[in-house]
Amino acid sequence: MEKNIIIVGGGFGGIQSAISLARKKIKNVKITLISNKDYFQYYPGFYRIVTGASPIEVAIPLSDILPKEVNLVIKSVNDINLVEKKISCEDNYSFYYDTLVLALGSETTYFNLPGIEELSFGFKSVDEALKLKKHLVSLFEDFKDFDKNDSTSHFHFIIVGGGPSGVEVAGDLSYFLPKLAKEYKIDPSWITIDLIDSNSRILPTLPEKVSTRILARLRKLGINIFLNRTMEKEELEQVFIKGMSIKAKTVIWTAGTQLNKLIPKISGLQFSARKRVEVNEYLEAKGSDKIFADVFIVGDIANTPYAGLAQTAIHNARFVSKVISMRSKNKKIKIYKPEKVAFSIPVGVDWGVFSMGNINFYGFFAYFVRHAIDFVFFFQVLSFVKFIGLFIKGWKYRKIKLK
Ligand SMILES: Cc1cc2nc3c(=O)[nH]c(=O)nc-3n(C[C@H](O)[C@H](O)[C@H](O)COP(=O)(O)OP(=O)(O)OC[C@H]3O[C@@H](n4cnc5c(N)ncnc54)[C@H](O)[C@@H]3O)c2cc1C
Repeated sequence: MEKNIIIVGGGFGGIQSAISLARKKIKNVKITLISNKDYFQYYPGFYRIVTGASPIEVAIPLSDILPKEVNLVIKSVNDINLVEKKISCEDNYSFYYDTLVLALGSETTYFNLPGIEELSFGFKSVDEALKLKKHLVSLFEDFKDFDKNDSTSHFHFIIVGGGPSGVEVAGDLSYFLPKLAKEYKIDPSWITIDLIDSNSRILPTLPEKVSTRILARLRKLGINIFLNRTMEKEELEQVFIKGMSIKAKTVIWTAGTQLNKLIPKISGLQFSARKRVEVNEYLEAKGSDKIFADVFIVGDIANTPYAGLAQTAIHNARFVSKVISMRSKNKKIKIYKPEKVAFSIPVGVDWGVFSMGNINFYGFFAYFVRHAIDFVFFFQVLSFVKFIGLFIKGWKYRKIKLK
């Protein structure tokens, strides 16, 4: 009888699971991917939408990515019952699985800090990124009278969070905002960009010397860095940070992520101290064998070393597909081995950092490597024709006006 493999989530872990499973050509299985969005979001490129790149380049229809062997269902999952092996979705749809791959990812958290969710900007979805870009352009476009008091907060930009996303967007804004100022004939010296972090250094997961180099680069680009400063609250055009307050019309929040809200509601899962799902050596959810055998957890939600990165989600997904395929042939399986991750962070438009273990390099080549990584990823998940079409459309978009 045909077995149902259901993948939940159409992000890095989900699409890679679908592609790898389809390639394995397992007999007598039906593969289904359920996602709440009909497109895949390439988060590493989102900061570029804020500064003018095309959303087409980072939001790819799932139907363009998934192999024909995979059935695509666009529905939001509301509940998963691991005992009944049942997935309940919106509009009273439900599905039963024999094997489940959960790849639901993470979402933004504002740590219940007053005002931040309502007043700050983010870029964890295409809509958010486009809203932020529109806001930035309108600040310059609508600026009429030159009132010095107002101008300081009008062109004051605060980025909260010194992780890769905060650093990348700060670097890009240091080029984009003066470009807008020139276009709308505004003195660029009014522009102030601050990057705020509660840690004693930016990018704390990278070696200290790499953080220091990036800090120096950001300062060279004119960005003010405030460390050991915790955000306390935001009010209209004013933010309150430990020991100080700043007037600013733009606060960009990149500081917090938490697991997808659905995960803690799934009865029976066990959680690590960092609130990720505990997994065994085959990336199955830990717990009673009967219920949890064949419930695989991949990506941001799995408690594995280096979780929280796209590269780990892809590695998890490839491993899980292998386990499912080998089990179908009753073959012996090697246990999960985490793969070391590389950090490739662009800072501005022609300088970047590449860091992997003891290998660190800086400058234009590192910047180029990051773009090459993006290119290789798309080339792997899209057909050649779609890949070329994507970049032509993206190129044309960049040529049109900043708005
Ligand atoms: C701005 C930003 C920049 C980043 N840059 C990098 C980088 O440079 N390098 C790197 O390695 N990592 C980066 N990351 C991290 C990386 O994107 C994540 O680690 C990766 O997306 C995790 O993959 P995932 O499959 O676990 O989750 P996701 O890719 O988030 O996928 C989750 C999927 O589940 C779907 N979903 C959610 N809820 C439901 C529901 N209820 N029902 C149905 N479907 C649902 C979502 O639509 C999505 O398709 C970045 C993240 C962000 C936010």
